[in-house]
Formats: sequence, C-alpha cells, structure tokens
Amino acid sequence: MSQSLVSCCARLSAIDGLDVAFPNSSLYAATENAYWSIQEASLAPSCIAKPNSSEDVARIIATIANQDGCPFAIKSQGHAPAAGFANIDNGITIDLTALNAITTNKDASVAHIGTGASWLDVYAHLDTLNKTVAGGRNGGVGVGGLTLGGGISYFSPQAGFTCDTAINFEIVLVSGRLVNANATSRPDLFRALKGGLSNFGVVTSIDFRTLPVGEILGGRVVNSLSYRSEVFAAFAKIATAEPYDVHASITTSIIFNAVTKAWTLLSAPIYTKPQTDPEVYAELFAIPSVSNTVQLTQLHTLANETAVAQTNQLFSTGTYGPSAQLLDRIFDICNETLYDFNITGSLQWIATFEPLPTVFAAQGAHGNVLGTASAAGNGMILLLSASWSDAASSPLVHAKNEQVLHEINTAAEHFGLLRSLVYANYAGTFQTPVASYGAQSDAFLRRVARKYDPRAVFQTQLPGGFKLVD
Ligand SMILES: Cc1cc2nc3c(=O)[nH]c(=O)nc-3n(C[C@H](O)[C@H](O)[C@H](O)COP(=O)(O)OP(=O)(O)OC[C@H]3O[C@@H](n4cnc5c(N)ncnc54)[C@H](O)[C@@H]3O)c2cc1C
Repeated sequence: MSQSLVSCCARLSAIDGLDVAFPNSSLYAATENAYWSIQEASLAPSCIAKPNSSEDVARIIATIANQDGCPFAIKSQGHAPAAGFANIDNGITIDLTALNAITTNKDASVAHIGTGASWLDVYAHLDTLNKTVAGGRNGGVGVGGLTLGGGISYFSPQAGFTCDTAINFEIVLVSGRLVNANATSRPDLFRALKGGLSNFGVVTSIDFRTLPVGEILGGRVVNSLSYRSEVFAAFAKIATAEPYDVHASITTSIIFNAVTKAWTLLSAPIYTKPQTDPEVYAELFAIPSVSNTVQLTQLHTLANETAVAQTNQLFSTGTYGPSAQLLDRIFDICNETLYDFNITGSLQWIATFEPLPTVFAAQGAHGNVLGTASAAGNGMILLLSASWSDAASSPLVHAKNEQVLHEINTAAEHFGLLRSLVYANYAGTFQTPVASYGAQSDAFLRRVARKYDPRAVFQTQLPGGFKLVD
C-alpha cells in the first residue's frame, strides 16, 4: 500500500466510532462477498470505511476528498457489474450498506430511505403499510445506485423513473457538508441527481413519494421458442397500446445457454393491481406456454429473487422503437452471432426487452436529466447481458457483446427505430450514457458539477461509474 493510502486509511481509522476494515478481516470480506459480479469482488481496496450515519459519511469525505493519493469508491448494494464502479484497487471503498433505515411520515405519503438499503428491505417495510415506492424490481439491488441512474420500476408507467419520485436528496458535498437538494433548496442539484449518477457527492438518503399498493399480479411465463414471433407480437402490442395500461409492466427475455446451445423464451408480466386476468395480457396468455407461475402476490415476495453466486457479468443496452419485426430480427442476430461462440466453462447471454411507453418517459420531462421527454413516441429498452465463469475469456466475451450490440443497433437504424437513450443503469463501459441524454442535459450536468465540486473531485478522485469529463 502506498504511503499516502496508509495515511488516508489511518486518518479514517482515527474517526470516532467509524468502522474501517482492512484485508483479511471478516468485516472486509463481508463487503467483498456482497458484490454481484466477480469483477467487482476481485478488486482489493486498501481499506473499507463503513459509515453508520450521514454524519460519518460527512466526516469521511472531509477527511479524504481533495487529498491526492486517496482515490475512493462508493458502494451501495454493489450490483453494478463493471469492475471499478463501486469498488477500487489501491484506494478506499465507502460501503454505505449500514445506511439502510426506512421510515415514513405520519400518513406514509413519503418514505425516507437510506441509500445503502436494498429494495427488498424497502418493500418488506412498506408492504406492511400497503404503500410502496417506484423502486427496482430485483430485491438485491441498492437504492443509491438505481435511483441516481434513473431507475425502472414495475410502477414506472404510472410514476416515471424511480428518480422522478424522489422529492429530496440528502447529500454530502465535496466540502464534507451534509445538505439537502429538493425543489426549493438547491433545485439545480436536485435535478442533476435525477440521472446524473455519482458525479456530485455521496447521497446518504432519499425521500420518495409513496404509492398505494395491495396484492399485485406477477410471475413468469415460459414459451417454446417456436412461438417467439407470437410472443414478440404480443409484447409489441402491449408496448405500443394507446392508451398504455399504466398498471402493466412486462419484460420479455431471450436467454441463450452457450454450453447446451439452448434458447429459453421467458416473459415476466406484472400487473400492479390485484387483477388475475388483465385484458392487456390476454394475447400473451393465450399463447401455449411451457410453464406459467403468474399469480397474485406481494411486492416483497416477488422482489425476493434467489441470489446468484458471484460470477463474471457484463451489461450493455440500447433503446428502440417497439416492433415485433425488429424483435424477430434481433433474435436472428443473436442466434447467428452467438451460436458458434464458445469459451471455456459456462456462458449465458440474456437479451431482455422492456417497454418505455411515452406515458412513462414523459413523467420526468423537465424534472430529470435523462432526455427522454423528446423521445419519438413509445420505446423499448434492451438489456443485453452475459454471465460466464472463465475470467481469462473476458476480453472475448466483451468483444462479442460489442459486436452483437453493434449489429442490433445497425438493424434498428435500418428499420428507422434506433433511439438515442443509453440507459445508464444497463450501460456497458464502452457506452456513453450521459452524452445520450442530449447536449442540453450534458451541459447542464457539467455546469452543476463545476458549481458544487469545482475541483472535480467526484470526476477524478472517484474514478468509478460514468463520468462527466470528456
Ligand atoms: C440483478 C439485477 C437486477 C436489476 N434490476 C433493475 C431494475 O429493476 N431497474 C433498474 O433500473 N435497474 C436494475 N438493475 C441495474 C441497477 O440499477 C444498477 O446496476 C445499479 O447501478 C445498481 O445499484 P446498486 O446501488 O446496487 O449498485 P452499486 O454497484 O453499489 O452502485 C452503482 C453505482 O452508483 C454509485 N452509487 C451508489 N450509491 C451511491 C450514493 N449513495 N451516492 C453516490 N453514488 C452512489 C456507485 O459509486 C456506483 O458507481 C439491476 C441490476 C441487477 C444486477
């Protein structure tokens, strides 16, 4: 460890009541084991600071920010797959998971949530009050990372991106000052945090507008691949319906096991009301299925997905106009490019499609920085992901992923269906989500960053995540 890092970690250890973990301790291992991807878990920070309060975070930032030789990373629930987004070699990782308090105001119309909480914690708490927030779908994901990157929820068609439902961010600025950003206090920072990622400070808690919720319809439908055109047609019809049924939220995935060469076609249709047979899914449910687990359930049950073992993971994304013809073409591209691509060990590819109807995208028209308000009508977002076991094959998998995405984008352009949004929470390291928000948002974010962090500490001393610097 460099002398300056020894000194940074020593000064953090001297902070009264702050837990600072070093390699070979169980506290250190607990953070490392909690990352979703092996790439993140295999980085080895010099020390890990585990704040128990917003004030602890303020003290940490006051101690290390502006100190050359103290690079750092911020971790919430560690679900960003790319190496270095929420962890760091030769630096300090700030693990926020103890900032997981969830409280509500008197009538439970607002939930105050620590950014280290998982969405499962949030739903388990709020379900008991028949309330929810428009948060992530997988319970293991963190409140911090998902919200700062936008956030797609089952409730997004009625409430917008998760960030659109935030009414206050508590944030530690580069000076170590703990402040609030909301519609009346620091409104520029408030807007910048709605999609602007980790570029402005460490967000310690967020107040969200809640929504009423009871039982919801959810589960999975597996169809034989031979029905893919019918499933794609049903998906496209749902995604382009006028008016869009705001209680409907569906993902449809094509999953390829590169070892067995088997494709699986899986949809997760959700209806956010206690209705067993909503009209919006009539066409999908009429297609013969291999299995169907769709039933009435509660959000915290649905979000409680089995944790998968740490493995190599990558994400990448694109946004397109919804079209059954394009979906058919994307399947063909994936099959043609991936079928004969073999590496040592296991390898799975998943292309997941989800509607981005205008009724959803327009919610945050002027409130967030994602630039989706001017989207040319209904859209659909693709999450193209891979998971594999052999780390030595990573360069090959990354190159193949870029090739497949390039071919999909070329096909979408050919159909006139390529859209600009590169959704940050699904983006690959080779992509530029902030630039995809459009020149106005990009310039706005840079202005706000210069105002609140003039020395660009959160651009340079915090290397992880998508940055605003060129
Ligand atoms: C299994 C799975 C399911 C997913 N489901 C969804 C979904 O339903 N909807 C959706 O929109 N996305 C989803 N995602 C994507 C997810 O939103 C991103 O991976 C997100 O970055 C994860 O947030 P995190 O807090 O767990 O991650 P982390 O890896 O801890 O953080 C991600 C990034 O945010 C920064 N960050 C985190 N907290 C803070 C903070 N408090 N202050 C400043 N910066 C911070 C980190 O430094 C890092 O750069 C899913 C991902 C996975 C792996």
